[in-house]
Order: sequence, then structure tokens, then C-alpha cells
Amino acid sequence: MNTLSNRINNLSESATIAMAQRSRELKAQGLDIISLSLGEPDFHTPDFVKEAAKKAIDENYTTYTPVPGYLELREAICNKFKRDNGLEYKPEQIVVSTGAKQSIANVVLCLIDPGDEVILPAPYWVSYYEIAKLAEGVPKVIETSIDADFKISPDQLAAAINHKSKLMIFSSPCNPTGSIYTDEELEALAEVIAKHRDFYVISDEIYEYINFRGKHTSLAKFGRIKEQVITINGLSKGFAMTGWRLGYIGAPTWIAKACNKMQGQFTSGTCSITQRAAIAALEADPMEATAEMRKAFESRKNLVVSELRKVDGLQVNDPPGAFYVFPDVSAYFGKSYDGKTIGSAEDLSMYLLNEALVATVGGEAFGSPNCLRISYATSEENLKEALKRISNALSQLS
Ligand code: PMP
Ligand code: GLU
Repeated sequence: MNTLSNRINNLSESATIAMAQRSRELKAQGLDIISLSLGEPDFHTPDFVKEAAKKAIDENYTTYTPVPGYLELREAICNKFKRDNGLEYKPEQIVVSTGAKQSIANVVLCLIDPGDEVILPAPYWVSYYEIAKLAEGVPKVIETSIDADFKISPDQLAAAINHKSKLMIFSSPCNPTGSIYTDEELEALAEVIAKHRDFYVISDEIYEYINFRGKHTSLAKFGRIKEQVITINGLSKGFAMTGWRLGYIGAPTWIAKACNKMQGQFTSGTCSITQRAAIAALEADPMEATAEMRKAFESRKNLVVSELRKVDGLQVNDPPGAFYVFPDVSAYFGKSYDGKTIGSAEDLSMYLLNEALVATVGGEAFGSPNCLRISYATSEENLKEALKRISNALSQLS
């Protein structure tokens, strides 16, 4: 008999991780799968970061760390916030965690009581919705369209906020769309947020450095709302360090203190060696390795967008950041192959996996059931082959 808690029974598995796992299993069976499912840079961690980690081991950085992270690391994060984002934080406003995912979970669990509404502009990253549910919050989704570049307007935000609204979670650059809010758009949202002083925003800026349009702007920079914004960042994307597990927040002191307390009962401080390596990464200036990766991502994005736009029926936006495209695939709903009808993006994703041997993620888990997420964090050679296969498979549907 299943005696698990309602909490875990009601939690959905991460769709991104599930698809990545499925494609690994098929690959292990000998199938030539190209995985465009996981949002993970295909580059190696830069050598100078690896050297810092080796040194940390030799210098015996092997014991428990302070729960919110070494002071030296939190100082390096404060310097980074100032250098890159024009944001002034003190070390007591920083909490380092085992990945940005944990940073988000900490903040949500610290702010949300059962019944509080959590505003999620859709498409949203899969884990926002589930973490909000875990805290017994009520996700309140704001729909967007591909024509609006998947961005919400200030009026939409104003209409969504009521006395139960406690938090909004969003990312810019966005996973899964690659969209980026302009400074003017952020400022307009900030004006709405400033009118509700008990309303908070998690600004997930983990794709900060994967921006093809120019320099990143942090939401918290709009001074009137700095006390309402929790800025999330981490090393996974900008430094190709997904496996090292390090994320962090810059937040009002009372929120940082709460996250510190939460983390002290859950995981304690993150890995000592990763923290020492993170100091090296965050102090790198100029960030040559990051710039190289960004260049590669941009050229892959151009390739993917131009190839997808040649495919009949796909509606494709041109994303200025992150490493995803999020085409609208609804023109294929109702078409069939071998007697099987494609009823949803999830069906189409499974069809592409089985027939084209290409792994993608259906938009349902991101709150946008008409779209399909394609991660282009893989080589141009793989991308060209994958796009050819996708195009062939789609042309077989009638
Ligand atoms: N936020 C977004 C938008 C992401 O795409 C990811 C990637 N998994 C994360 C947070 C979590 O990153 P981390 O690897 O630091 O947990
Ligand atoms: N952020 C990545 C993605 O969206 C990694 C997977 C995950 O952590 O969910 O694919």
C-alpha cells in the first residue's frame, strides 16, 4: 500500500530530468539518440576553476562549512553583484546553496504559507510550479503568447496581484523561451511591484551571461523594490558547472537569515571544494571562458532558428538569450502517423524521440502546452543532424 505523504504523491517528477533520463537509457540500449532535452552546457568547466578546486583539496578544505557559505565566497558574490549588476549587498544578505534550485526552494519555503498565491508567468521553469506546490502555495499562472515574445505586460501583472499574492517567480533570460525583458519592461514591472509592499519577487538570473543582446539588467536594480526582490544566481550555466552544485541569493537580510536557518536543518553549507572553486570563478575578470561559450551558443541559436523556420507549421521566436528555443508546434496536433494521432506537445515529443531519435521536452510542464522546448546546448554537428531528423519526422505526419 502507498503510505507516502500527500506532499510527495502530489509532486510531479521534473519533466526535464525525466526526459534526460529516458534518453540516457535509450542511448545505453545502443540507440543513436541526440538529446536536446537537458538544459546543460556541453562545455567543460574552465581550467582555472578546476585548478582552484584541486588546490582546495590539497589545502584541506574538507570540513563542514558555515551554513550560508564561506565569508570569503560571500564577499566575492557581493563584489560580483556590484561589478556586474550595480547591486549593493552585504555578506549577511547572501546565502550560498547546493544549486540555484535549492536557493529557490529555500526562499519559497521561507515565504509561503498554505494558500498564499505564487504568480508564475508562463512559460515558467518546471520546478517553480512544483516548489510552490510543495510549500502549499497556490500557483497563479499568467499566460503569455509567442507574439508578445512570451513576456507579461505590467497590466497583466497588476491584474494578477490580489491580497493573497505573496510572491512571483520568473527568469530573464528565460528558461524555456530564451526571452529577455528589456530595461524599460523591467522598470514597468517594478512600478507595479512597488505598489504592493508585501509582495515579493524571485528574479532568477541564472542565465545572466548567456545574453546575445548586451549586458544583463537585474530587476533589483530598480531601487524602490530592492527590498522586495530576491536575486537568484549560480555557476551552473555561466561557468559550465552543473555538477558542482552551487547557487546563491542576494536578498533582504531577514529573508537571507530565514534561508540560512532553513538550510541549517536541510543540507548545511554546500561542498567546501566547490565553494573554493566558486571564488576563483566569480573573481575572473574578464570572463573569457564564459564569453567563448556565449559566442558558441549564439551561433548555434542562429542555426537552430533558421533551420526550424524552414519547417512548415512551426512558429519560432528568435530568443536573445539562454540556450533554448520554444517553437509553437500546435499546427501538428491532430495529425497522425501509423494510426497514432498527435494530441499534444508531449505526444509530439514522444513521437520525435521514437521516430527521429531526438529528445526534446513537451511544453506542458512549462505551462505552455502548444510548445516544445529544444535545448541547443550541444555541438553544431549534433544540431544539424537533429534538425534534419526532426524535419523529416514532422513531414511524415499527415
Ligand atoms: N533556474 C533555472 C531557470 C534553470 O534553468 C536552472 C537549471 N536547472 C536552475 C534554476 C537551477 O540551476 P542549478 O543547477 O544551480 O540548481
Ligand atoms: N535547468 C535545466 C533544464 O531546465 C536542468 C534540469 C533541471 O534541473 O531541471 O533542463
